[in-house]
Amino acid sequence: MKKIAIVTCARYRDCGGGKCFRALRERRGGFARYAAEEAVEVVGFSNCGGCPGGNVENVPAEFLKNGAQVVHLATGLVVGYPPCPRIRGFKAFIESRYGLPVVVGTHPIPLKYMEAHRALPFWEQAGMAEIASHLMAESREVMEAYN
Ligand code: SF4
Repeated sequence: MKKIAIVTCARYRDCGGGKCFRALRERRGGFARYAAEEAVEVVGFSNCGGCPGGNVENVPAEFLKNGAQVVHLATGLVVGYPPCPRIRGFKAFIESRYGLPVVVGTHPIPLKYMEAHRALPFWEQAGMAEIASHLMAESREVMEAYN
C-alpha cells in the first residue's frame, strides 16, 4: 500500500480533481510509477495557498501525520500559463524539511497544453524538462485522452 498526498496550484483551487483521480486509477502521468496491483491511497489533498505558496510550508506536516510517503505536485503547476515559478523550490523544500520524496505531476499533460507550451518559452526558462521529463515522454494518444 502506498500512501500519497497531492498539492495543487491555488489558481485552480476550484478544480474537482477529475483528471488527477482518473490518472491515479489508470496509472498514468505521475502515477505511472505505481504498479496496477499496488494499492495507492490518497491521504492528503490541498493547494499551495496561493502565490507565493505559503501553505507548502506547513501542509506536509499534516500529510505526514496521515502516513503520506510521497507528495505529488499536481500537473497544473507544470502546465499553467505561466507554470509555477516555485515548483523547484517546493520540491526541494518538502524533500529537505519533511523527508518526503516529491514527484512532479499527477495526471498526464493534456495535448492542447503540450502544444501550446511548445510555442512558449516558459518550460525552457524553468528547466521543466529536467523535473517533468516523465510527463513530457508520455504518448500523444494518452495526452490527447486527457485533453
Ligand atoms: S503558481 Fe505556484 S505559487 Fe502560485 S498559486 Fe500556483 S502553485 Fe501556488
